[in-house]
Amino acid sequence: MAERICLITGISGQDGGYLGEQLAAEGSVVHGLVRPGDNATADLAGRLPGVTLHETDLRDTAAVGSLITRIAPDEVYNLAGISSVAQSWAQPVLTGEISGVAVAGVLQACWELQEATGRPVRVVQAASAEIFGNPVTSPQDEGTPIAPVNPYGAAKAYAHHLVGVYAQRGLHAVSAILYNHESPRRPDTFVTRKITRGAALIARGEATELALGNLDARRDWGWAPDYVDAMVRAARHDAGGSYVIATGIPHSVREFVAAAFTAAGIDDWERYVRVDPAFVRPVDAVELAGDAGRARTELGWSPTVGFDELVRRMVEVDLV
Ligand code: GDP
Repeated sequence: MAERICLITGISGQDGGYLGEQLAAEGSVVHGLVRPGDNATADLAGRLPGVTLHETDLRDTAAVGSLITRIAPDEVYNLAGISSVAQSWAQPVLTGEISGVAVAGVLQACWELQEATGRPVRVVQAASAEIFGNPVTSPQDEGTPIAPVNPYGAAKAYAHHLVGVYAQRGLHAVSAILYNHESPRRPDTFVTRKITRGAALIARGEATELALGNLDARRDWGWAPDYVDAMVRAARHDAGGSYVIATGIPHSVREFVAAAFTAAGIDDWERYVRVDPAFVRPVDAVELAGDAGRARTELGWSPTVGFDELVRRMVEVDLV
C-alpha cells in the first residue's frame, strides 16, 4: 500500500503535536500547517523531525487550496482555530474567520481533490462541546440541539454544519465533537493548567494565591491523546459522521482545584484560592458532559485516563 499522506492544520497546538507524533510513529507522511510567524514553529521542527511544516494562513483559502492540491493528502485533520472561549470574546471576527469560514475552504479543497483524483479524501473537523451552548440535557450526544452561547461556539457550529453539507456531497467528513481535553501541554489560558501550575507554585513557596473565576462550572475533562486517537479512528472508519468524544463524567472547577492541590501535597486549598470577577465569564455553560456511546460502538473508542490520573499527570509535570 502507498504511504498514507496526512495534513494537520494547527499542528503547533496541544492536539496537533500529539497527532503529529502518533501519525509519524505509524509511518505516515505528515504535513503540518502553521500560522505565519508562529513562535512555536522552530521548536516544532525539532520535536517532529519527519514532519513537513508549511507556513500558511488558514484564512487564505487560495493558498490552503493549492497546498491541498499539491500534497494530495489522504487524511486532513483541521485542528487550527481560535482555541479558547475567552479569546473568542476578545476577537469575535477573527474567530468567525478562522474557526468558521476557513473550514469551508478546507472542505471545498478536499472535495475538489477527491473529484480530480478519484481517491477518497477523509477530513476530520475538530468541533467542540461549545456548539451545544448551555444545554438543558446532560449528558449531550450527537442529537442534542446546537445552540451556542459564545463566538467560539457559534463559529464551531457553522463549521459543524458545513461538515454535514460536505458529507452529503460525498466527502468522508467527520465532525469530532470534542469535550475539554487536557494534558501538560495545555497553555495556562485554560483553567486546568492554570490550576495545576498555580498549585505547584504555591507548593514550592513561589506564589501565595491563585485567582480563578467560576468554581461551580462543571466540565467533562479527558486526556488529550485519547481524543487525538478518536479522531484518527473516525478518519479511518467506513463512513464519516458526527461523534461526541468525552468521558461522560463531569467535575466542577472546584473539584479540579481540590484534586490538584492534593496532588501537590496541599490539603487546605481554600486558603490559597480567591475568586476574581475578572475571570468570571459573561455567559458560561453550567455543565457540559458528553455521551460518547456512538464513538464507543462504531469506533471502538473509550477514554484510557480518568480524572484523578489526569490531574496527577499535569501536577507532576508542573512540580518539576
Ligand atoms: P473552555 O471550556 O474551552 O472555555 O476551557 P477553560 O479551561 O478556559 O474553562 C473551563 C471552565 O473553567 C469554564 O467554565 C470557565 O468559566 C471556568 N473557569 C473558572 N476560572 C477560570 C479561570 O481563571 N480561567 C479560565 N480559563 N477558566 C476558568
